[in-house]
Amino acid sequence: MAPSGPGSVRRRCRRVLYWIPVVFISLLLGWSYYAYAIQLCIVSMENVGEQVVCLIAYHLLFAMFVWSYWKTIFTLPMNPSKEFHLSYAEKELLEREPRGEAHQEVLRRAAKDLPIYTRTMSGAIRYCDRCQLIKPDRCHHCSVCDKCILKMDHHCPWVNNCVGFSNYKFFLLFLAYSLLYCLFIAATDLQYFIKFWTNGLPDTQAKFHIMFLFFAAAMFSVSLSSLFGYHCWLVSKNKSTLEAFRSPVFRHGTDKNGFSLGFSKNMRQVFGDEKKYWLLPVFSSLGDGCSFPTCLVNQDPEQPSTPAGMNSTLKTPENHQFPAKPLRESQSHLLMDSQSWTENTANPGKGKAGMSNPALTMENET
Ligand SMILES: [Zn+2]
Ligand SMILES: [Zn+2]
Repeated sequence: MAPSGPGSVRRRCRRVLYWIPVVFISLLLGWSYYAYAIQLCIVSMENVGEQVVCLIAYHLLFAMFVWSYWKTIFTLPMNPSKEFHLSYAEKELLEREPRGEAHQEVLRRAAKDLPIYTRTMSGAIRYCDRCQLIKPDRCHHCSVCDKCILKMDHHCPWVNNCVGFSNYKFFLLFLAYSLLYCLFIAATDLQYFIKFWTNGLPDTQAKFHIMFLFFAAAMFSVSLSSLFGYHCWLVSKNKSTLEAFRSPVFRHGTDKNGFSLGFSKNMRQVFGDEKKYWLLPVFSSLGDGCSFPTCLVNQDPEQPSTPAGMNSTLKTPENHQFPAKPLRESQSHLLMDSQSWTENTANPGKGKAGMSNPALTMENET
């Protein structure tokens, strides 16, 4: 029996309220369709050629916008796999142990074979009390979803969903297509908007739709372009929104670019290797969301399998290495596909080198 009480009723009410922003966007989108396709294109445009071109381009953008929006909303966020959950015995042990070093010892033992490199600010293993699991790198607990979300970016009220590993690409495409949608409307509506103010439009209700359409499109273009620009910067640096606010802490310390592998690999981690899927809201991100390559792990004294004497530093592109601990099977060749963990780039300045064997080379970041 599902628990029913004031608490669960409140939760259910809250869940319904969370859909209000999505309903608002959907209504706005529905109105914009009516205003643009019917009132502007069909009623107000006199040139048939312009009408056809505008309608075709508009419907294309509209479809891509709706598709990516839909995927962002309805793609379930991914949660840590069962290896990250504590066993029953470990949970019991944790409950018995007082907080502090003994607690950490249990977690350290449980995390021994997990591909995790990040820690809390105090250097402890990242553990979620609520979900009772060891948090994979870049995973955070979302208080709205009440779950740990892989590579959590942020909880977005406009899509009533957590933006994370499973739908970050869709979210970016949603921003891109909604921006294009607004820019296209503003650009093609501009001449009719000017006519509105110079009394060049017939006195019908279409003229008000045309005016409001331009205002709405211009206003959303401004806010969307800044948000989209910010996320493009995040992708280029391989950061999530949360990581931009608080840099990840690795075992050797904080590093704001700890997951960055260079521009093209950062892009491919989100969009995938196959260019044909880049602009489509179909899942093509690389990896499994639980483990991420980082060029920092070879500085880790706790990594026994790191070849001795490498003495590599972050600043030298010659000695980049990938994690000594094996990443998971589902990682793509961006993260695996390597015979050797070390790279031998005789000419690190050559941009193409990174493309030919992405697992072994890393672009030099400034
Ligand atoms: Zn959690
Ligand atoms: Zn959430």
